[in-house]
Amino acid sequence: MGSDKSEVTFEENLIKAKSYLERFRNEGVLNHINGNSGSAIDGTTFDIISPVDLQYLANAPRSKAQDVELAANSATDAFGSWSALSGFSRKKILHKIADGIVARADEIALVECMDTGQSLRFMSKAALRGAENFRFFADRAEEARDGKSLRTAGQVNISTRVPIGPVGIITPWNTPFMLSTWKIAPALAAGCTIVHKPAEFSPLTARLLVEIAEDSGLPKGVWNLVNGLGEEAGRALTENPKIKAIGFVGEGKTGSMIMRQGAETLKRVHFELGGKNPVIVFADSDIDRAVDAAVFMIYSLNGERCTSSSRLLVEDSIYEMFTQKVAEKARLIKVGHPLDPKTIVGPLIHPVHERKVLEYIKIGKEEGAILLVGGNKIHGPGGGCYIEPTLFTNANNDMRIAQEEIFGPVLTAISFSDEAEALRIANDVEYGLSGYLWTSDVTRAFRFSDGLDVGMIWVNSENVRHLPTPFGGVKSSGIGRDGGDWSFDFYMETKNIAFATEHHPIPKLTN
Ligand code: NAD
Repeated sequence: MGSDKSEVTFEENLIKAKSYLERFRNEGVLNHINGNSGSAIDGTTFDIISPVDLQYLANAPRSKAQDVELAANSATDAFGSWSALSGFSRKKILHKIADGIVARADEIALVECMDTGQSLRFMSKAALRGAENFRFFADRAEEARDGKSLRTAGQVNISTRVPIGPVGIITPWNTPFMLSTWKIAPALAAGCTIVHKPAEFSPLTARLLVEIAEDSGLPKGVWNLVNGLGEEAGRALTENPKIKAIGFVGEGKTGSMIMRQGAETLKRVHFELGGKNPVIVFADSDIDRAVDAAVFMIYSLNGERCTSSSRLLVEDSIYEMFTQKVAEKARLIKVGHPLDPKTIVGPLIHPVHERKVLEYIKIGKEEGAILLVGGNKIHGPGGGCYIEPTLFTNANNDMRIAQEEIFGPVLTAISFSDEAEALRIANDVEYGLSGYLWTSDVTRAFRFSDGLDVGMIWVNSENVRHLPTPFGGVKSSGIGRDGGDWSFDFYMETKNIAFATEHHPIPKLTN
């Protein structure tokens, strides 16, 4: 009997994941404040279930304002010495954290898969990307404070940047490990200390991350982890006066709440929010590459991805052919257990989210779009939140499935007749995170991307991230940019010092 190597690996993955999850089941996720792991002060907890089988994974502290206060105090106390450390020393520690992530990448990926439902084929890379995020900002720690020298007659101005202080980082449940590193690494490189509040649906790997950081030599108190619900721990973090800024990734309506909550303490905010991103395909594009890219950008990461191309806009002369090709590929996508190496789409994060996605599929049918592929819940391994990759065709841009962020493996295809109509449809949503443009006409590519109202555009490409470039959205998709120096601008204050270079006349108000 021939043996299938990948099936053996699936079994091995299951065994390894079980052993990695054991500690969480036994001790819980735990907060981490000033180097000490522990429960919420009032002892309350909430349960975390796996989307694979809806079974209990662990409990986590249900922290309140008093826990956040402790964490904010710890971050405040640690700020002086961490911010005074040389950029070179911070760089060395951040590289060690990256090494620690690489050393435990397998554990991180397996735990993340069981906590989020994301498939291993993507999560193993996400863990390594987390390490890259640390290395990228580590290498820039030494220059983070650099500024400009601006001269004028009689004066030399020197600008510099200083870390803003202790900051709060609030992250969502999709790819939580990678996103946390993306926000935390630049904050640490800049010299800030942090309080991290991970999403309540998937907090496990945040615990591994802070552990790796301190094992790598990060001083106690620099990085504090507080678990809890958004309206309790999250809210308290945004209201705490010791916290100078909030780096937030999540939904737009949560962003609005954070802005209101932080208003009293004049909190600086950076928001990475939702998207309803178009992939626009003109008839002159390389069709097969465009099909693969469109399929990848909606069905990878379970469609639970802020930059997913959830609206497919195709020129009418190729619309039928193009959507048929997408449909053929979508039908072949394997939905299954996240630890099965063959799986592409795993279970969605939580029954609450699964209900939301199924509700949108129902709405799409009621709105009159054609359900060409999928649309059903699947009774997959473990019986968790499995939904078929879904494709709606013959949609129009007024439909809710074309306007609202579904955040699942659901693609809405719309046809357009010319460039002007394509641009109008592409821009006619409240979001503006990313756009994907397929054409072989370079002049049109320039013209069209100029008019596209989004923060990031990929021409003839899927989303390929280059860390020095700005990441973020316009309209309801966000405020501010991450990446390269943009991250430092958020986590640091710019300061100007003017030196007189001559004895200029000082205005005298009295003799
Ligand atoms: P969410 O807004 O519900 O939750 C995000 C975080 O905010 C969680 O940690 C939650 O506990 C916390 N929170 C909730 N209420 C709060 C409050 N009142 N005060 C402070 N914190 C509060 O988002 P989600 O459902 O976890 O994540 C999915 C969303 O994130 C999608 O809209 C997705 O597009 C977006 N997202 C955006 C990006 C990006 O880079 N633009 C990346 C990933 C995800």
